[in-house]
Amino acid sequence: MTVKKLTYLLTLVLSCFACKTVDPTPQIILQTTTIQKPKNIVLMIGDGMGLSQVSAAIYNQKTPTHISNFPVVGYQKTHSFDNLITDSAAGATAIATGQKTRNNVVGLDTSYQSHQSILEEAEEIGLGTGIVTTDAITGATPASFYAHQKLRIMFEHIAEDLLKSGIDFFVGGGKTYFDNREDERNLHAALEDKGYIISDFIQEELSRINLNHYSKFGYFSANKKPLPKNRGRTYLPLASKMGVEFLDRYNEAGFFLVIEGAQIDWACHANQPRYFLDEIKDFDNAIGEVLKFAVRDKETLVIVTGDHETGGMAINPASKLKKLKLEFTLRDHTATMIPVYAYGPKAELFNGIYENTAIYHKMREALELERLSSSK
Ligand code: MG
Ligand code: ZN
Repeated sequence: MTVKKLTYLLTLVLSCFACKTVDPTPQIILQTTTIQKPKNIVLMIGDGMGLSQVSAAIYNQKTPTHISNFPVVGYQKTHSFDNLITDSAAGATAIATGQKTRNNVVGLDTSYQSHQSILEEAEEIGLGTGIVTTDAITGATPASFYAHQKLRIMFEHIAEDLLKSGIDFFVGGGKTYFDNREDERNLHAALEDKGYIISDFIQEELSRINLNHYSKFGYFSANKKPLPKNRGRTYLPLASKMGVEFLDRYNEAGFFLVIEGAQIDWACHANQPRYFLDEIKDFDNAIGEVLKFAVRDKETLVIVTGDHETGGMAINPASKLKKLKLEFTLRDHTATMIPVYAYGPKAELFNGIYENTAIYHKMREALELERLSSSK
């Protein structure tokens, strides 16, 4: 048996004991708020989540979805700098930095100039910052918020950028890019030297960790890519809940948290409806956890969107009203516009049709970063 197989089996065995998770939240009544400026932003990205994906999730659920609950809806145009069809690197770079770039590029513009992301700006002005993903933490979507690299596959370089980022809370796969590297550096130890408490799927379940005494926390949920939901992954709603509560506790000034449902994209690339429905439901449960916090907190702007559509998903005629027949037209991304949902102070900024880069500017406007940077 190879090491890879052994690790996989170990992950499976461990995941079987991972039964303690959060129970799905019933649909929440979203109160309108009189507070003018958000203290916190939670940006949730369903990778590959277009309107067909959201429609399918809404039709498929027996109980109302959280995503159907948002008071503000807009549309973003997702094309990259030179391609009508974006990839996740250019898509997330646009949202994170306001720059349209070439596909495969992370956090750099078309001349490979580095641009500070909204997360890095938040970190710089003293907000707490966090990332939760069902991809590796070094995957293109999360990486675009803290890394600056010419190619999304430069995982070890991206891991070094995470070390420099100052991110306060992260949960995702990609352990191997930190502690089993070609350059033999041990970034796991380097993170601990910087004051992080680091744990992983081999040591303990995320649900068993008490975060009360930590100020910086990182958890690796897999060596490389985390498992699909239907093969035992359970942490997305839990990590989302832990993320908002952890960052809220340690950051008087507020926080910026990114949460990615990465495998909606993978399921649609694979043209697998069942895998897709499990992933989007899991992501919707994570939305429920965040909305529960936001309703209580009243100062949190929640934005839910995708980076592009994947699979050219169609909802085709089925024999019964309640039966979903999902079909795909390809195994790649498409250029359809992507819905943007918002709730909380300054949510109304997200009405309308705009470029993906506008999301960056709208988040800055909401946090009044424009005013801060011009008064510097
Ligand atoms: Mg992604
Ligand atoms: Zn994709």
